[in-house]
Amino acid sequence: MSDCIFCKIASKEAKSNVVYEDDTVIAFRDLDPKAPEHILIIPKKHIDSLNELDNSDKELASHILVDVIPKVARDLSIDKSGFRIVVNTGDDGGQTVNHLHFHMLGGRTMTWPPG
Ligand code: AMP
Repeated sequence: MSDCIFCKIASKEAKSNVVYEDDTVIAFRDLDPKAPEHILIIPKKHIDSLNELDNSDKELASHILVDVIPKVARDLSIDKSGFRIVVNTGDDGGQTVNHLHFHMLGGRTMTWPPG
Protein backbone atom coordinates (compact mmCIF):
# COMPACT_ATOMS: atom_id res chain seq x y z
CA MET A 1 0.00 0.00 0.00
CA SER A 2 1.24 3.46 -0.92
CA ASP A 3 2.41 5.81 1.80
CA CYS A 4 1.22 8.75 -0.26
CA ILE A 5 -1.28 10.80 1.76
CA PHE A 6 -3.08 12.03 -1.37
CA CYS A 7 -3.44 8.43 -2.65
CA LYS A 8 -5.00 7.62 0.72
CA ILE A 9 -7.37 10.58 0.39
CA ALA A 10 -8.30 9.45 -3.14
CA SER A 11 -9.04 5.92 -1.91
CA LYS A 12 -10.87 7.25 1.23
CA GLU A 13 -8.37 5.52 3.46
CA ALA A 14 -7.67 9.01 4.85
CA LYS A 15 -10.32 11.58 5.65
CA SER A 16 -10.69 14.83 3.74
CA ASN A 17 -13.31 17.46 3.11
CA VAL A 18 -14.29 16.60 -0.47
CA VAL A 19 -15.82 19.29 -2.67
CA TYR A 20 -15.76 17.41 -6.00
CA GLU A 21 -15.17 13.85 -7.18
CA ASP A 22 -15.45 11.79 -10.33
CA ASP A 23 -13.81 8.61 -11.62
CA THR A 24 -10.38 10.13 -12.17
CA VAL A 25 -10.19 13.30 -10.06
CA ILE A 26 -10.93 14.35 -6.49
CA ALA A 27 -10.89 17.85 -4.98
CA PHE A 28 -10.78 18.56 -1.25
CA ARG A 29 -10.10 21.41 1.15
CA ASP A 30 -6.49 22.09 2.11
CA LEU A 31 -5.79 21.31 5.79
CA ASP A 32 -3.90 24.57 6.21
CA PRO A 33 -5.76 27.08 4.02
CA LYS A 34 -3.85 30.08 2.64
CA ALA A 35 -7.01 31.85 1.46
CA PRO A 36 -10.73 31.82 2.37
CA GLU A 37 -11.15 29.15 -0.31
CA HIS A 38 -8.22 26.76 -0.70
CA ILE A 39 -8.90 23.54 -2.57
CA LEU A 40 -6.52 20.85 -3.78
CA ILE A 41 -7.48 19.21 -7.08
CA ILE A 42 -5.66 15.93 -7.73
CA PRO A 43 -5.72 13.02 -10.17
CA LYS A 44 -6.73 9.88 -8.30
CA LYS A 45 -3.91 7.95 -9.92
CA HIS A 46 -0.50 8.65 -8.47
CA ILE A 47 1.62 11.02 -10.53
CA ASP A 48 4.60 12.49 -8.67
CA SER A 49 4.48 15.98 -10.16
CA LEU A 50 3.95 17.97 -13.36
CA ASN A 51 7.35 16.62 -14.45
CA GLU A 52 5.94 13.09 -14.64
CA LEU A 53 2.86 13.89 -16.74
CA ASP A 54 3.19 12.17 -20.12
CA ASN A 55 1.30 11.70 -23.37
CA SER A 56 -0.99 9.09 -21.83
CA ASP A 57 -2.20 11.78 -19.36
CA LYS A 58 -3.42 14.31 -21.94
CA GLU A 59 -7.09 13.49 -21.44
CA LEU A 60 -6.73 13.65 -17.66
CA ALA A 61 -4.83 16.95 -17.78
CA SER A 62 -7.37 18.57 -20.07
CA HIS A 63 -10.23 17.20 -17.96
CA ILE A 64 -8.77 18.92 -14.91
CA LEU A 65 -8.22 22.21 -16.76
CA VAL A 66 -11.32 22.32 -18.94
CA ASP A 67 -13.93 20.62 -16.74
CA VAL A 68 -12.95 20.32 -13.09
CA ILE A 69 -11.29 23.64 -12.32
CA PRO A 70 -14.13 25.71 -13.85
CA LYS A 71 -16.77 23.58 -12.11
CA VAL A 72 -15.14 23.82 -8.68
CA ALA A 73 -14.73 27.60 -9.16
CA ARG A 74 -18.42 27.91 -10.05
CA ASP A 75 -19.48 25.71 -7.13
CA LEU A 76 -17.44 27.84 -4.72
CA SER A 77 -18.76 31.05 -6.35
CA ILE A 78 -15.28 32.33 -7.09
CA ASP A 79 -15.51 32.01 -10.87
CA LYS A 80 -16.52 35.66 -11.31
CA SER A 81 -14.35 37.18 -8.57
CA GLY A 82 -11.33 35.18 -9.72
CA PHE A 83 -8.94 32.68 -8.31
CA ARG A 84 -5.38 31.44 -8.59
CA ILE A 85 -4.19 27.99 -9.65
CA VAL A 86 -0.74 27.00 -8.35
CA VAL A 87 1.16 23.80 -9.12
CA ASN A 88 4.26 23.72 -6.95
CA THR A 89 6.75 21.42 -8.66
CA GLY A 90 9.95 20.03 -7.19
CA ASP A 91 12.15 21.52 -4.49
CA ASP A 92 12.48 25.03 -5.88
CA GLY A 93 8.76 25.04 -6.63
CA GLY A 94 8.04 24.39 -2.96
CA GLN A 95 6.35 21.02 -3.51
CA THR A 96 5.96 19.18 -0.20
CA VAL A 97 3.53 16.39 -1.19
CA ASN A 98 4.82 14.32 -4.10
CA HIS A 99 1.46 13.63 -5.72
CA LEU A 100 0.47 16.10 -8.45
CA HIS A 101 -1.98 18.67 -7.10
CA PHE A 102 -3.47 21.92 -8.31
CA HIS A 103 -3.99 24.48 -5.56
CA MET A 104 -7.09 26.60 -6.16
CA LEU A 105 -6.98 29.76 -4.05
CA GLY A 106 -9.75 32.33 -3.94
CA GLY A 107 -12.01 34.49 -1.83
CA ARG A 108 -9.44 37.28 -1.48
CA THR A 109 -7.21 39.36 -3.71
CA MET A 110 -3.89 37.62 -4.35
CA THR A 111 -0.58 39.43 -4.46
CA TRP A 112 2.19 39.08 -7.01
CA PRO A 113 4.99 38.02 -7.11
CA PRO A 114 4.60 34.98 -4.88
CA GLY A 115 7.25 34.43 -2.22
P1 AMP B 1 2.61 21.65 -1.73
O1 AMP B 1 3.44 22.34 -0.69
O2 AMP B 1 2.37 22.44 -2.97
O3 AMP B 1 3.12 20.26 -2.01
O4 AMP B 1 1.16 21.52 -1.10
C1 AMP B 1 0.78 20.49 -0.25
C2 AMP B 1 -0.47 20.96 0.43
O5 AMP B 1 -1.12 19.84 0.95
C3 AMP B 1 -0.26 21.94 1.57
O6 AMP B 1 -0.98 23.15 1.31
C4 AMP B 1 -0.81 21.20 2.78
O7 AMP B 1 -1.47 22.05 3.68
C5 AMP B 1 -1.77 20.22 2.14
N1 AMP B 1 -2.02 18.99 2.86
C6 AMP B 1 -1.11 18.11 3.35
N2 AMP B 1 -1.72 17.05 3.90
C7 AMP B 1 -3.06 17.27 3.73
C8 AMP B 1 -4.23 16.53 4.09
N3 AMP B 1 -4.15 15.35 4.73
N4 AMP B 1 -5.44 17.06 3.76
C9 AMP B 1 -5.52 18.24 3.13
N5 AMP B 1 -4.47 18.97 2.76
C10 AMP B 1 -3.26 18.50 3.07
